Amino acid sequence: MLKMMNVCKSYDGKQYALHDISLHIARGEFVFLVGPSGAGKSTFIKLLFREIKPDRGSIFVNGVDIVALTNDEVPGLRRRLGIVFQDYRLLPDRTVFENVAFAMRVTEAPNKLIKPRVMKVLDYVGLADKASCKSTELSGGEQQRVAIARAIVNDPKLIIADEPTGNLDPNTAMEIMNIFESIRERGATIIMATHSQEIVNAMGKRVIAIEHGQIVRDERRGRYGYEE
Ligand code: ADP
Repeated sequence: MLKMMNVCKSYDGKQYALHDISLHIARGEFVFLVGPSGAGKSTFIKLLFREIKPDRGSIFVNGVDIVALTNDEVPGLRRRLGIVFQDYRLLPDRTVFENVAFAMRVTEAPNKLIKPRVMKVLDYVGLADKASCKSTELSGGEQQRVAIARAIVNDPKLIIADEPTGNLDPNTAMEIMNIFESIRERGATIIMATHSQEIVNAMGKRVIAIEHGQIVRDERRGRYGYEE
């Protein structure tokens, strides 16, 4: 699902934010990316959806060489991914329904398919009854569930999440993680950067630790491994 070979990235030609990263993530894996602040986690995540390009090295997402994509092809890549951020990034003046439907409209999905599909994913994240609320009327945990519904509405094979529980209390964070795990059980691959020791240790998934831009640990059923 993801193959990186010898990926290097620096900003402004300065020190490497990521240095010589090579890894393989198989379909259906759930992978945590951990490491201290400034280690390179966000840089890693941004490379996956072509927010940035590496200086060197190759990145294949589901067999597609994403470094070679033209700028015109990048929106197509992003529509095939599910991306979830710490700060939800919902459209504040739109309803919950519209926030999720928007992600389908940009794929030019036929109107008659949009409503049933959006309601299905809202039901899946437990928010069908909030479909007509404005996103700003929801709690943080609910907003993140809308963002997850939006991320999965087009049925992506790869979900990328950057600190998705960073603004949530521990119980809500666990509920969100249970949704991610259920999405993985349905066949998606999940790559998640997180600072949450509690979550990483509770989930028992693959852990890739980055420090100073390099992979220092890659363990199946790993633990967080840093003091908070
Ligand atoms: P993390 O997500 O693990 O906190 P980042 O990927 O954000 O780490 O940062 C890795 C390194 O790259 C840090 O030294 C950071 O200061 C630097 N960096 C990140 N983004 C930029 C940028 N846009 N311009 C310059 N330096 C950056």
